[in-house]
Amino acid sequence: ETMLRLEGLRKAYNKGKPGEVTVLRGATISVARGEVVALVAPSGAGKSTLLHIAGLLDTADEGVVEIGGEDMAGLSDRARTEARRADVGFIYQFHHLLPEFSALENIVLPQLANGVPRAAAAARAGELLERVGIAARAGHRPAALSGGEQQRVAFCRAMANGPRLLLADEPTGNLDPGTSDQVFGVLMDLVRETGLSALIATHNLELAARMDRVVRLEAGRVV
Ligand code: ADP
Ligand code: ADP
Repeated sequence: ETMLRLEGLRKAYNKGKPGEVTVLRGATISVARGEVVALVAPSGAGKSTLLHIAGLLDTADEGVVEIGGEDMAGLSDRARTEARRADVGFIYQFHHLLPEFSALENIVLPQLANGVPRAAAAARAGELLERVGIAARAGHRPAALSGGEQQRVAFCRAMANGPRLLLADEPTGNLDPGTSDQVFGVLMDLVRETGLSALIATHNLELAARMDRVVRLEAGRVV
């Protein structure tokens, strides 16, 4: 069963203008249910663009995006936003946590946006923090946390609404090698426990080798 299907994606920026740049030229990837796929690409190859399209944060000029067998192109803007909130968890290289909120609140907020009552959202946030080993840090703001702790909170936030698909763009790329290794282990445990399907971009070939399959993006195509 296919959880994510990207077929023939094409994408250009600044179309018809002097700065036009074609980034994706027919990229095709699929991720099966429960499968964890590494996306390896040289810088500038279009990895972030591809992840944003898969995560419904951007649209392709051409091609198919299906999540759980459902064609996302046909959805209204409102339905896309709802699908993104409910079905997709996104993790960035830099945590992008809201600085004025605690770790716990950062995990509660996407659940409130998804219609979960506050008490249930807080309970789930607490459980997630426990699972990644930083329950004691729940009340701290992001600035008071280490880089590894910040990324663990970002993992919990991505998992908050119980997504079917996890997309990660260099999720440990901002950490020193030792911390990166450890925090990546935490992420993989969380993904495996949940049986989640994931597409994880990384430059680190050792981390890529710990996933089920590696795909390479070159010149806008998967090779
Ligand atoms: P990667 O994540 O593989 O480094 P990106 O998808 O971020 O690649 O970018 C691919 C190419 O598209 C780069 O040349 C980048 O400069 C260009 N690009 C990305 N976003 C935009 C944008 N919003 N407008 C114009 N060019 C962009
Ligand atoms: P908006 O649509 O107004 O941008 P959302 O309700 O989608 O806001 O998101 C609320 C907060 O949760 C934001 O801080 C956003 O960054 C975060 N968030 C939303 N969806 C996800 C996701 N799938 N993975 C990680 N964080 C998310």
